[in-house]
Amino acid sequence: MVKICCIGAGYVGGPTMAVIALKCPEIEVAVVDISVPRINAWNSEHLPIYEPGLEDVVKQCRGKNLFFSTDVEKHVAEADIVFVSVNTPTKTQGLGAGKAADLTYWESAARMIADVSTSDKIVVEKSTVPVKTAEAIEKILAHNRKGINFSILSNPEFLAEGTAIKDLFQPDRVLIGGRETPLGQKAIQALKDVYAHWVPVDRILCTNLWSAELSKLAANAFLAQRISSVNAMSALCEATGADITQVSHSVGTDSRIGPKFLNASVGFGGSCFQKDILNLIYICECNGLPEVANYWKQVIKVNDYQKTRFVNRVVSSMFNTVSGKKIAILGFAFKKDTGDTRETPAIDVCKGLIGDKAKLSIYDPQVPEDQISRDLSMKKFDWDHPVHLQPMSPTSIKEVSVVWDAYEATKDAHGICILTEWDEFRNLDYQRIYDNMRKPAFVFDGRNIMDVGKLRKIGFIVYSIGKPLDP
Ligand code: NAD
Repeated sequence: MVKICCIGAGYVGGPTMAVIALKCPEIEVAVVDISVPRINAWNSEHLPIYEPGLEDVVKQCRGKNLFFSTDVEKHVAEADIVFVSVNTPTKTQGLGAGKAADLTYWESAARMIADVSTSDKIVVEKSTVPVKTAEAIEKILAHNRKGINFSILSNPEFLAEGTAIKDLFQPDRVLIGGRETPLGQKAIQALKDVYAHWVPVDRILCTNLWSAELSKLAANAFLAQRISSVNAMSALCEATGADITQVSHSVGTDSRIGPKFLNASVGFGGSCFQKDILNLIYICECNGLPEVANYWKQVIKVNDYQKTRFVNRVVSSMFNTVSGKKIAILGFAFKKDTGDTRETPAIDVCKGLIGDKAKLSIYDPQVPEDQISRDLSMKKFDWDHPVHLQPMSPTSIKEVSVVWDAYEATKDAHGICILTEWDEFRNLDYQRIYDNMRKPAFVFDGRNIMDVGKLRKIGFIVYSIGKPLDP
């Protein structure tokens, strides 16, 4: 029986391994993590992450051929294939602070693999890592455990949070990069055999190691760039009277461009886009390509600008001050169908409004209060000028309440900011909400999900990104 072990039971490790276990019943899959609470949650009724369909997949395999454990060394030692799906955040200090990927977790995982291995292993980079990381991993493994063959593969994950299970069941492609040696090719074939259980072979792309590593960074950079492009256009729409929805539609019907990822919004978030572009910028700088680095920097700068622009619009619309005014924040997660708040634009928007002394009442169907408090009191790291900014003062945080109902959040509010595109926000009783708000009542739709005409008819003053302003 082939044994797989995955180091890192996070947003990627958990769902990907659950799907491999489901699709390959003859393979034993162990997902291991140093975090005891995380593993306990994976073994409980309340999984540590929310993803539509995930619970069902886990329930079908857990205890049969899918195991979650903190006994990292035992499962790594027994495995034929070891996926490494640990976090690779942006470095916050030292060389490359603010841009380079922090590979501390990866290196410690690699050293541990070397320490405990007594048989040949395929080691798979599942985390997103800088191009050429495999070279470093090969050195660590070879020098620390002589006589054992380690084959390193790059198999970056392209799932999107919120649709992870669907993406894993029907991936656009599975990418496997390996060495062009007989051992490397044998390893590629072994991993291909795993995915071939459910992925059509023409969707399994095999490349050299560096192409696979760089492709993941490139894919995220392209996606984020598309969002920044449409958001940059949204600012121009507001200045000229054009409507971003109409512009996006007109642009997206060109088959060379396509319609996806052309929705204007308050900005992109999530743990990956910014981190991976920063990583790309750093790699360009290290390779003597400052102009290429500057090109990608602009994607993040436009994203930051979009969040600032949104806050400024809220404040300027509400008669140039939100001091003492209650503002309902609908949605805190970085996108719908996830409880993940990493790099969510809501953090910057909320902090901007608190900075202007607003009182916030926040509602998100999946994000608990302690998470929101942690996010809002966390230090903000400025990637362009890597110095730590001051954390929020405790008094500012007191101006924030987290509630479990959109009606409660909006009661007596002066304005509403919609920051996540949760479906339920489209279908609220806005007449009831309007009746219970202070007047004039404002809606700032940061996701362009609302029927503006309907809201205006009720009496709201409405701002939507990239749309003509309320007459
Ligand atoms: P995560 O923080 O949710 O999970 C990482 C896990 O690794 C944590 O539970 C941590 O405790 C564990 N870990 C760290 N060091 C360990 C060690 N030495 N031994 C055992 N466990 C260890 O991160 P994630 O969102 O799952 O992302 C993992 C990687 O996948 C990152 O490189 C990320 O860029 C990439 N990625 C993420 C997504 C996404 O949507 N989240 C999508 C594609 C790729």
